Amino acid sequence: MTSFIQIDKVCKQCGANFIARTVSTKCCSHECSQRNYKKRKREEKIQTAIEKENNEKPYNPVVNEKEFLSIQEVCMLLGASRWTIYRMIECGSISAAKIGRRTIIKKSTIESLFKN
Ligand SMILES: [Zn+2]
Repeated sequence: MTSFIQIDKVCKQCGANFIARTVSTKCCSHECSQRNYKKRKREEKIQTAIEKENNEKPYNPVVNEKEFLSIQEVCMLLGASRWTIYRMIECGSISAAKIGRRTIIKKSTIESLFKN
């Protein structure tokens, strides 16, 4: 017995309508499915990289011993958003320095916020 099915599908890659012969077919052509596979792999890679980065940056106890903090660390310390910190830098509430593309903030400048 040969099972022969036809399913109306939309190609995941190019969006064209096509007739699939197996339930698992996602693309209209071999070319599309190869492209779709590569795209998925790339997205997976990016996703893994993002997750890895998030996992590597949990609360950092070293913060307490450092004299300079990154924007990220200041966000954690103050429970404020990145943009709030940038705004505070811009209006001069916090003084920051740029090291290449990174912005660092002296910890004492955060502490001085409370000395009013
Ligand atoms: Zn296609």
